Amino acid sequence: MIITSAEYIKSFPSIKGFDLPELSAIAFIGRSNAGKSSLINHLLNRKKLVKTSSTPGKTQLLNFFLINKAFYFVDLPGYGFANVPVEVKMGWQAMIQDFLRLYPHLRLIVQLMDLRHPPTREDQEFYHLLSENRWPSLVVANKSDKVKNNSLKRSLTAMQSCLHLRKPPLMHSALKKTGKEAIWEDIKDHLQRD
Ligand code: GDP
Repeated sequence: MIITSAEYIKSFPSIKGFDLPELSAIAFIGRSNAGKSSLINHLLNRKKLVKTSSTPGKTQLLNFFLINKAFYFVDLPGYGFANVPVEVKMGWQAMIQDFLRLYPHLRLIVQLMDLRHPPTREDQEFYHLLSENRWPSLVVANKSDKVKNNSLKRSLTAMQSCLHLRKPPLMHSALKKTGKEAIWEDIKDHLQRD
């Protein structure tokens, strides 16, 4: 994918009561620290367009980036709520579910996981939310550089069977800068669907 422009547009605290952008959108979500910011920056050939996500529990916003003046990337606040009050977790859930249910331009949700570990309970819960609602999703297994070559296939198969995926997740490494072509193919495919 040739990126001619990528710019931060605006952040919204909620889908409700705001005039959200009207072009097709691809959303990104994952556990904090899985590498979501690094993945988006890699896809866009930018070093620091998306800043490292803040601690869960801080301001949680839907962050819109306009790509090639044609579609949006939406960086969703990450999950991973070991030390946050239950109200924060519930606020996050309501915000994300409203976004997924009510935002009509969403074409694909890219869910990022860490290939080094089996999907966490929250990874699994979020993936099941997507699949139960038949929202189009793509699981990306990040930090593949941290897994030894002879264990890659096993780690991918474990992730696939844990989540009951039809296909293995797509591998990605922001460190080694590998795996983005296949992710772009999937994104382009969903942007072309109506
Ligand atoms: P986010 O919280 O999901 O947005 O995660 P970040 O993109 O900020 O990354 C969290 C940490 O993981 C940072 O220290 C990154 O440098 C590191 N990281 C992200 N992607 C990779 C990767 O593919 N391989 C390795 N080894 N580290 C990564």
